[in-house]
Amino acid sequence: TWSHVPAGPPDPILGVTEAFLRDKDSRKINLGVGAYRDENGKPYVLTSVQKAEELLTAEKLDKEYLPIAGLPSFTKAAAKLAYGAEQKHVQEGAVAVVQSISGTGALRIGGAFLARFYPHSKTIYLPVPSWGNHTPIFRDSGLEVKGYRYFDKGTVGLDFAGMKEDLKNMPEKSIVLLHACAHNPTGVDPTPEQWIEISDIIREKGHFPFFDMAYQGFASGSTVRDAFAVRHFVAAGHEIALSQSFAKNMGLYGERVGAFSVIAEDPEQKARIESQLKIVIRPMYSNPPLHGARIAGTILNRPELYTEWEQEVKGMADRIISMRERLYDNLVRLQTPGEWGHIKRQIGMFSFTGLTQPQTKALAEKAHIYMTADGRISMAGLNNGNIDYFSESVSKAVKG
Ligand code: PMP
Repeated sequence: TWSHVPAGPPDPILGVTEAFLRDKDSRKINLGVGAYRDENGKPYVLTSVQKAEELLTAEKLDKEYLPIAGLPSFTKAAAKLAYGAEQKHVQEGAVAVVQSISGTGALRIGGAFLARFYPHSKTIYLPVPSWGNHTPIFRDSGLEVKGYRYFDKGTVGLDFAGMKEDLKNMPEKSIVLLHACAHNPTGVDPTPEQWIEISDIIREKGHFPFFDMAYQGFASGSTVRDAFAVRHFVAAGHEIALSQSFAKNMGLYGERVGAFSVIAEDPEQKARIESQLKIVIRPMYSNPPLHGARIAGTILNRPELYTEWEQEVKGMADRIISMRERLYDNLVRLQTPGEWGHIKRQIGMFSFTGLTQPQTKALAEKAHIYMTADGRISMAGLNNGNIDYFSESVSKAVKG
């Protein structure tokens, strides 16, 4: 029956971890995986998460099904976190919001909703490059996927002129995917002034902005600063769609906690949109998982846990920022050929180092250091114990 089924290619990022696990050298470092590691290179469970779980255990809650749209106390709080508690649509009950299976699930629900109901286009434009899973998610949702210029290899920064030109040249009312902060894989974000220009162009062209916000708080250390683009667009009158993930900022990776929302004109329209989102969700997985949404909801709704969580997110962001500084200083001190300022300018979990494919290959083979072939490293994999070895190895690889 299945003799015609070809073997599919392995996932490029998970393949990096497999190679790392096979390596027996004690100096080995895995910078492929996009998950936070603490100062000792270990996975990190936030104290606020542990406390929320203790509260939940003490409550001896049942395990009944959630509604199709998820846990209301969580989804309401998620919308407030993204848009701001005082925001007009949040206040008036005009944000359609459903719980999702983390960010991936939110993007998939959003893709399916747009494919079914967005009246003007069936094409979504992604930045080039974008997170590797975006293309298959939107293709499988029923959208056609195209790209707009984003990253400039020459400056290892934003190709702002190219991006603006592409936004102006795509057909009117196109769907445009934007990374809200901490662009993956490049770590390159527009400045606030550039976001304002992007918002203006998108309004002039009537495009529909779909934000992917997988790192709120994790990028700068401030949930408010990281929400700048989303909040500016909404304040400027855009009706946006938004995917939120709590994988990184709450360290809830495997709990799969996220939300998908759409800004509606009024509560009546919001109710119609939510009714259709439920029709998208019901045949996919019926209703979302309970535990992670309870954890995130507890943190977001209890002021003392919320404050503690904000400090912990800032702690993770600050540790990453300090590793960027250490890496930059080391590379300069070791007189590594090239300009390395982008390491400090980039934001969030990842850095596009600019290392070439032969250099990344040499790092794996000679130094037992693993990263994706495009030279992307997860900054969270670096710590005081391995940063010097990493810097020296990179410096050697670049010198050839
Ligand atoms: N979008 C972006 C840009 C991401 O980097 C990620 C995580 N790697 C996600 C969405 C979704 O991840 P998750 O499904 O684990 O929330």
